[in-house]
Amino acid sequence: METVLLSDSDIDLEKAAEFIKNGDIVGIPTETVYGLGADASNEEAVRRVFEAKGRPADNPLIVHLADFSQAVSFTQFIPPLAYKLAEHFCPGPLTMVLPKNDRIPMITSGGLDTVGIRVPSHPVMHRIIELSGRPIAAPSANTSGYPSPTSAEHVMRDMYGKISAVVDGGNSEFGVESTVIAIEGDSSVRILRPGCVTKEMLSELCSEVIIDRAILHELEAGQKAASPGMKYKHYSPKANIIMVEGELESFIAYVGANNGKSVYSLIFDKDADRFPYRYMTYGNSSSEQAHLIFQRLRELDDAGAERVYVRAPETDGVGLAVYNRLIRAAGFEVIRI
Ligand code: AMP
Ligand code: MG
Repeated sequence: METVLLSDSDIDLEKAAEFIKNGDIVGIPTETVYGLGADASNEEAVRRVFEAKGRPADNPLIVHLADFSQAVSFTQFIPPLAYKLAEHFCPGPLTMVLPKNDRIPMITSGGLDTVGIRVPSHPVMHRIIELSGRPIAAPSANTSGYPSPTSAEHVMRDMYGKISAVVDGGNSEFGVESTVIAIEGDSSVRILRPGCVTKEMLSELCSEVIIDRAILHELEAGQKAASPGMKYKHYSPKANIIMVEGELESFIAYVGANNGKSVYSLIFDKDADRFPYRYMTYGNSSSEQAHLIFQRLRELDDAGAERVYVRAPETDGVGLAVYNRLIRAAGFEVIRI
């Protein structure tokens, strides 16, 4: 199959919507990362999404809608807190896990009786949902396990020949996937995957915001994941990623003692002047780091890095999302110095 590269012109977005209506798959820009869009209600289309990504069948797909009011058509029940959160965060990078109805096939929800619902703010994604008139399942458009794509080029590299088209909408604004939450009781939520809607932001509207243990810790054998995606090795480039927590001085000393051919460090912009070894930088603020992290992990592979020492990000605000992606890319290998 030839994969066509589409622009964000009206004509091309209509083509993208036609593909979706026909049960084909299209790489679509969103404000978080690029997604592999398919009609969430079409079992065959969804099956081919799992196949293109090489994604385990029990890892559910998030369903994207043009407006939160459409969620009633795909769920059994929407708690009042979900409406309140939707008022503040939809459209935007928040996914709410809700009890699904029969219009969402089991294959889409990975066999669960719930469905993750999100209303994306990116105008291209929004327009394609509207033009197709379908709920769009859109997992990150990477090969399963590899860093998520934040540009059309990344999607082309992972998916060329496997999907019908990719729409180029420039680089993803946020750079990490949506915050996934489950609602617990009348006023609490549990964060299953951190993103750019932060714990601090949710806390203004909820009595309690629980951070699921799987976000920062490896699941123990036999433990059930609240978010199935958390079970799998994820976000990993070919290079061996090692997260190092500590001050810059000790980081420099550590890398010096463990340096070698094909060893890189991923450091903050502000460290660069003082850093004597081979490096790439990934911003200073947590938002900059989120925006750059997946792109840098891919660039490290392109550069031939075999081992990468990463300066650990902060864990508050958006930093928790960056830390979560890195600790998983590192297979939970963290060195504290
Ligand atoms: P991705 O499609 O790559 O953005 O990953 C989607 C993430 O959302 C995975 O970690 C899934 O496990 C999680 N997710 C999607 N739907 C559900 C659901 N119904 N219940 C729990 N987690 C979900
Ligand atoms: Mg993903």
